[in-house]
Amino acid sequence: MKHKLTLPTAKDKTLFTPGPLTTSLSVKQAMLRDAGSWHFEFNEVVASIRDKLLEIAGVSRETGFETILMQGSGTFGVEAVVSSVLPPNGKLLALANGAYGERLIQMASHLRIATRVLRTPENQIPDLDMLQSVLSGDSTITHVAAVHCETTTGILNPITEIGRIVKDHQRIYIVDAISSFGAIPIDLVSSGIDFLISSPNKCLEGVPGFSFILARRAALLATEGFARTLSLDLLGQWKGFEKNGQFRYTPATHTILAFQQALREFDLEGGVAGRAARYRNNHTVLLDGMKRLGFRSYLNPEVQSYVITSFHYPTDFDFQFDKFYRRLSDNDMIIYPGKISQADTFRIASIGRIFEADVRSLLCAIEESVNELCDTKDDL
Ligand SMILES: *Cc1c(COP(=O)(O)O)cnc(C)c1O
Repeated sequence: MKHKLTLPTAKDKTLFTPGPLTTSLSVKQAMLRDAGSWHFEFNEVVASIRDKLLEIAGVSRETGFETILMQGSGTFGVEAVVSSVLPPNGKLLALANGAYGERLIQMASHLRIATRVLRTPENQIPDLDMLQSVLSGDSTITHVAAVHCETTTGILNPITEIGRIVKDHQRIYIVDAISSFGAIPIDLVSSGIDFLISSPNKCLEGVPGFSFILARRAALLATEGFARTLSLDLLGQWKGFEKNGQFRYTPATHTILAFQQALREFDLEGGVAGRAARYRNNHTVLLDGMKRLGFRSYLNPEVQSYVITSFHYPTDFDFQFDKFYRRLSDNDMIIYPGKISQADTFRIASIGRIFEADVRSLLCAIEESVNELCDTKDDL
């Protein structure tokens, strides 16, 4: 067996995964600094990031929106919202068609928040007529939560249509846009979104360490006294930023410096439109190539996002994902196991600092691996 050095190399394995993902060298280099989280220079970086995120979303303070940065990964941002914005007697309606919808439900359960679940199969978007009738029939539901791109499969949920129904019924609307923000256009105003959660470590190509929440100010200010935890208190965190420009507790300073650089590179690429174009192309090249190699994708094209794609295991030979994964890893490429409960799949993400050439290299490596795996079987 070939011995591989585990020392740092000039280039790491390419991550075809939806976070952590491959980032640029300059984003990583931005972390080679020690910054004091109370110092005014660092606070200026935090302030500029908060403004920039509103700008990317196409909203502003003047139009009534605020940004809150929260320590922890994306999940901590979702939990900050769920634990902070529902009143003690509130009730959450959660739309679920994958693991991240299920995680919302799990959070609400841990928090002892009354919850109603509207579940659809993992390859189907929520039933909007059902949503209408659930909201008409249950006036105790105060909040509705949906996931934009359900990264479990790559399905894109219709958050604007869902939002119209939620707003017709005058409920508060929470959207987990962790894997879509920055690469799939989102209109917060016409979707009626009150709280949107995302992370630097997905389509904005930063490194993990914090999450961010875009909030309609009026909805945020109406949550006084609702927070069920201290450290994830959304309104408390916002008040901290407003008071002295600081996080209440030690932030991931290096991650924030990396994110500042990631946002510069996001602008250089042409913002949401530029990033969407690259990811869409990555996805198209991947899908075409995989079809050519005989793989079937899990979702129908109408609901498939260009963020991540699930593929069925091949059935014409004894496919073993672990072996396949290891061969690709030996070629310095990392794909993602499946998470779907109803089918045997693996996933390949199109996001991160990866380009068409990377996708083509992956396709070559996949072709080689499949041939080898088929041959191994013939030898037996
Ligand atoms: C990645 C992801 C999360 C969780 O983010 P972590 O950073 O892994 O905690 C939540 N929701 C969606 C849709 C995601 O893609």
